[in-house]
Amino acid sequence: MTDRPEYHPAHRIARVDVHLVSTRVASGFADATRTVECVGFTVVRVTTDQGLEGFGLTYHEVGGEATRSLILNNIAPAIIGRDPLETEAIWTDLFHYLRGVGRKGLTFAALSAIDLALWDLKGKIVDLPVFRLLGGNQTRVPVYASGGWTSYDDDQLLAEMTDMVAQGYSHIKFKVGVEGATNLRRDVERVRKVRDAVGPDIRLLLDANNCWDAATAVQFANRVRDCDIFLFEEPVLADDIPGLARFKRGTDIPLATGEHEYTRYGVRDLILAEAADIVQADAARAGGYTEMLKIGALTQAWNLRFAPHAMEHMHLHLVSAMPNAPFVERLRLFEEITGLVLKDGPMPEAGAFTLNEKPGFGLELDMDFIRDADEAR
Ligand SMILES: [Mg+2]
Repeated sequence: MTDRPEYHPAHRIARVDVHLVSTRVASGFADATRTVECVGFTVVRVTTDQGLEGFGLTYHEVGGEATRSLILNNIAPAIIGRDPLETEAIWTDLFHYLRGVGRKGLTFAALSAIDLALWDLKGKIVDLPVFRLLGGNQTRVPVYASGGWTSYDDDQLLAEMTDMVAQGYSHIKFKVGVEGATNLRRDVERVRKVRDAVGPDIRLLLDANNCWDAATAVQFANRVRDCDIFLFEEPVLADDIPGLARFKRGTDIPLATGEHEYTRYGVRDLILAEAADIVQADAARAGGYTEMLKIGALTQAWNLRFAPHAMEHMHLHLVSAMPNAPFVERLRLFEEITGLVLKDGPMPEAGAFTLNEKPGFGLELDMDFIRDADEAR
């Protein structure tokens, strides 16, 4: 037996930077339960003592300053000097360090962005794309287009949905719950109009953004049943887990939820309550790749689909490597800011992204835009 040399990390975490970037949404897009005034990212860069950099993104529509403060003042001092390959150990240490101030919400946006940056960095350290590190081999990752706000009139809705189809998407999602979720008849009409406009071969996904109680959601689902709905997302409040389970018992339209869940524990409870067919946890909220791998494994054990919410460029490598993950989601509302933050970011073609063999997430930040946008705030 040969003696193994003592392990010395090739890199240590030396620096953490956080930038807030956003674009205002001029026309005030609305879903069934809120108006979106701005969209943006918290960009987290982790640099090693050898000058290698990884980055992660999380949201900052609300509370970006708090996320930045938590990362710079608390998380960074806790990880500087550590080996960036220790993603599991760092995650567990941060979870316990932060658990008293939040195992969900902004605390987890902060932890998630750090974990994503470490996975990007890990790929760069070993010079492999993250999907190969995860054991995947799929370079084609399907994507669905997402938009269709409740603030649109019918013409705007149909124009956007038919434009998505013209761009090559086979799966398109739009919002239901118009007029403050008070007019089911109009929602049914809108679904029928979209189905008629795009024809029978396009998969339709509906998102109610938490707007109904279970009885109303079931009533609606049964009224659009003949429109061949691929999935129905967040028909009731995300926290109404019994309501989600009741919805599932009341309709055969597959139920998607989970974008508001955090960690393996939140997803475990959804699954045990039989409250999801498609789990939509988001790596930028639920705990980064370290946690999403566990969430993915839970969904596999229950033979459920795993379809991470939004943030397509953060999810591409995970979805590539997950056998039960059908696609990533591309939100129209985020296309502009995503295009500005990423330099030559991958674009979908004919309803799919193609992964390259660049190390890490294979992405590059446009730091000129990001620095200017952060300073202009
Ligand atoms: Mg949604």
